[in-house]
Amino acid sequence: TFEVALRYIPGIGAVNGGAALISLTDITDREQASQMRRDFVANVSHELRTPLTALMGFIETLRGPARDDAPARDRFLTIMQGEANRMNRLVGDLLSLNRVESEERVRPREQLDLGAHLASTLKSLEPVAEAADVQLFLEIPEEPTLVTGDPDQLQQVFTNLVENAIKYGGDQVTLRLRTRDRDPAVRAAAVRVEVIDNGNGIDPVHLPRLTERFYRVDSHRSREQGGTGLGLAIVKHIVNRHRGRMRVESSAATGTVFTVILPR
Ligand code: ADP
Repeated sequence: TFEVALRYIPGIGAVNGGAALISLTDITDREQASQMRRDFVANVSHELRTPLTALMGFIETLRGPARDDAPARDRFLTIMQGEANRMNRLVGDLLSLNRVESEERVRPREQLDLGAHLASTLKSLEPVAEAADVQLFLEIPEEPTLVTGDPDQLQQVFTNLVENAIKYGGDQVTLRLRTRDRDPAVRAAAVRVEVIDNGNGIDPVHLPRLTERFYRVDSHRSREQGGTGLGLAIVKHIVNRHRGRMRVESSAATGTVFTVILPR
């Protein structure tokens, strides 16, 4: 798409002592960006409106038919709390996304021991795993693995990936840090963190789009699990900020592996 502008510049050229200039500007990128913005706003509005509509319906019912029905009132209040929690999670994830996007160009500076950091991240997820009847495994090297990173953001990356593995995977999740790559160049330059589950895998057609905002393989399942559809988009921005890379491999037979490669 081009934008056409016509300008008359007096004092140059031959025609009446001035010249007409036609300029063409390629605005394809700009149009795509504003289309994406519109889609995003439409998605956010839709995601917020769904729980809001439910809340409004329950308020009506509580004022009318359920006014004197104590057990029904309790039931409705529990559902309303769930819907309010869902809105709260969505707003929290939107703020996180905004923050990580705005910090994406700022290099993280802190040194941290990634192994110890992963161990404490996994520890904090034990109650979630227990509630879902999922076993957690940690595989880290004995010696410390120093990387430069933002500890809070890296915690968010591995929390999101492990929580997804718990929600959508099978009954076992492994968080593994590998520092002994077969390739010596990789070994010196980078570390590899894998989040492995033994679930039913993800159909390959979905893999390229997983990190898009609000993209879900199974919307119903995601919503039921309290997903906002923003987790992997947040992960992607944080990994970019750390100049890292992310890969996903999945098969119906063995499950899914999310790999994050971080520079040393
Ligand atoms: P959500 O909030 O829906 O979990 P995410 O951005 O974290 O959003 O993930 C996007 C989608 O990717 C999920 O809805 C789910 O369908 C799929 N997904 C993510 N991790 C896994 C996994 N380990 N196994 C199967 N599907 C997964």
